Amino acid sequence: MTDTLYTGISLLVTPHPGPQRGRAMRELTVLEDAALLVSGERIRWVGHRADAPGAANERDLGGVAVVPGLVDPHTHAVWAGDRLADFEARVEGVPYETLLARGGGIRSTMRATAAASEEELARLALPRLEALQHSGATTIEVKSGYGLDFDAELRMLQAAYFAETEFVGDVVRTLLVHVPPTEGRAEYVRAVCEELIPEVAEDNLAQAVDVFCEKEAFSVAETRAILEAARVYGLATKLHADQFHAIGGTELACEVGALSVDHLEASGPAQIAALAASSTVATVLPGVTLHLGLPTAPARALVDAGACVAVGTDLNPGSSPVFSSQLALALAVRLCGLTPAEALTACTVNAAAALGLSDRGALVPGARADFLALHSADWRDLAYTLGVSPVRGVYVGGQPVKETPL
Ligand SMILES: [Zn+2]
Repeated sequence: MTDTLYTGISLLVTPHPGPQRGRAMRELTVLEDAALLVSGERIRWVGHRADAPGAANERDLGGVAVVPGLVDPHTHAVWAGDRLADFEARVEGVPYETLLARGGGIRSTMRATAAASEEELARLALPRLEALQHSGATTIEVKSGYGLDFDAELRMLQAAYFAETEFVGDVVRTLLVHVPPTEGRAEYVRAVCEELIPEVAEDNLAQAVDVFCEKEAFSVAETRAILEAARVYGLATKLHADQFHAIGGTELACEVGALSVDHLEASGPAQIAALAASSTVATVLPGVTLHLGLPTAPARALVDAGACVAVGTDLNPGSSPVFSSQLALALAVRLCGLTPAEALTACTVNAAAALGLSDRGALVPGARADFLALHSADWRDLAYTLGVSPVRGVYVGGQPVKETPL
């Protein structure tokens, strides 16, 4: 195994390893004039340049700040078709219900996605994953959820797997039970539990099951049945909850020990208290707030109450066309009131915890050597910059996958 010593690091900035909650989200380790020793895919040593051990190779990063690679814990990066006409109509004042009646909205994405082959879907997804990676994401979650039927759902997960084999980074696949059928709900939920989940588990197509628990989607009782089936088949669980109405999804996620509950725009004091008392990660998605002009999730109140908060892009064609994990981090500061330090923790160790991963997100010995070199000597440019990428270099498992010349 070749060792490489990375030097020329003005500041090395990292949260502590493992999920961080409440005030601890602000506690970063900041090392000036640092060095990072990578052995294989792992970090072997971190410290001051003057104390660095010798190594076979040395790479000078040029005097810039280094932070952990970002983890994007929530994307819908596999889809076909587009929502450009919807977008234009919406800004012209056409209500969503009218778009749906015209055949637009999520149903149009579902039709286009169901009509595409696995290969086509993978070809469409790969550049999206690469865009997220160029913005700093070294691990990316991808959900299904636009299938009109189970075959289409399985094709979406297969497409994510195909894209993953071409992608130099980690992809975590999630089965999302997203849109209930217009009729035969009870039979549909039964089939999800008894047919779809067992097949996904057997073929190792996903690591987790996610359910959209909402007035217009799945009820708490339906969601509970689906999460229970996921548990039986050894899959982790997540929820989309409290996006429009707090109907009990967050409380259910905390009760069953889901990895995360995502959205939370409609969460109130009871949901904040439940998350503060639980190990379930609260994942907020500020891209939706920006794109749709909807209320923001109470991320500030969640941190203040002691919850473990993560941030994701929610990359999807309808409600969050955010192709940059760094932008999601920067928006969490503007729209959700997180400090730059809290936002870095939310996008690294806490986002990793939202995916059940404990080996990344912090630059400490033994962790995966996933890190970013910025253009700037000051790490806060990561949270400050809008419109261009402050990320100069992306390193995955110790290897450069993007390096802009100095
Ligand atoms: Zn989502």
